[in-house]
Amino acid sequence: MAPQDNGRECLLGIDAGGTKIATAAVSTRGEILEQSELQTPAHDGDKMVKTFRELVANETSRCRGKGLDIKAVGIAAAGYISRKDGVLIESPNIAWRMVPLKMIAEEASGLPSFLDNDANGAAAGERFAGIAKGVDDFVYITLGTGVGGGVYTDGNLLRGNRGVAGELGHIIIDPNGPLCGCGRRGCLEALASGTAMGRKGAELAKDNPDTILLEMAGGDPDMITGKLVTAAAEQGDETALRTIKTWSTYLAEGIVDFIHIFDPKIVVLGGGVSESGHLFIDQVRDSVIELGIRVLVEGIPILLSKLRNEAGVIGAAALAWEGISKDH
Ligand SMILES: [Zn+2]
Repeated sequence: MAPQDNGRECLLGIDAGGTKIATAAVSTRGEILEQSELQTPAHDGDKMVKTFRELVANETSRCRGKGLDIKAVGIAAAGYISRKDGVLIESPNIAWRMVPLKMIAEEASGLPSFLDNDANGAAAGERFAGIAKGVDDFVYITLGTGVGGGVYTDGNLLRGNRGVAGELGHIIIDPNGPLCGCGRRGCLEALASGTAMGRKGAELAKDNPDTILLEMAGGDPDMITGKLVTAAAEQGDETALRTIKTWSTYLAEGIVDFIHIFDPKIVVLGGGVSESGHLFIDQVRDSVIELGIRVLVEGIPILLSKLRNEAGVIGAAALAWEGISKDH
């Protein structure tokens, strides 16, 4: 049986990113009750572990001091994770290798703790308190510097044998496409991330020097980022709008594959780029219908996340909630 919501019961969510660790005490209804943020020495693994341990201990006692009844700790971290062992195997942005984060959090808080990667955490957050609330089958795609994701089937996160399933960003969209961070070519991440949007914008701006986009980048196409593309598109810049159109088609190619494979009830787009979702959501929806197997893709809503900046900590709290709910 799932734990009852007794008002002050809450979960401690910890979002361990590359430059900061954010924490929040989140109620069992998904409201943030307390939060804090700490810059981290990401290049120094040992120091970072020490910071993490102290933070968990301090936040647990601080929240208790305010009368909050923390039931469990959830940790969402960027990187490859062995959930079974509670170990962060490797992280792209932090000097962490084989760190037993679950054990450290349990020792520091005296509470059951649950560890997963940040994309799975964000997907869990959507189901806990976001647009996918109560939905058992959905695909969550996070669009940021890279592309990640989490997949729910029958109410459970798809984890696979070793817990590394759902690397949605590394399906190949174009084998001759740009090089991806993973070493292969034309992955969804290399074509439909925020970084990829910037790169496409730079490519188009080189052929169209008379553009607001290039002006915003100080005349240097190499300075064009995804953020600048969306900012220029807001002003109606033709090059930026064309960039977003092409980018949206790549994203739609990926979404079509996910719908074909997972048969979700909805698809949710999150991450920093989704905050500019009004610029591309209609194009993505149209392209999905155009590119997919009609009978499979028709009628599947493609929605934007509403959790925004809070997705990380709410997702981490959701991991804790799922962890204790399933243990009962
Ligand atoms: Zn890749």
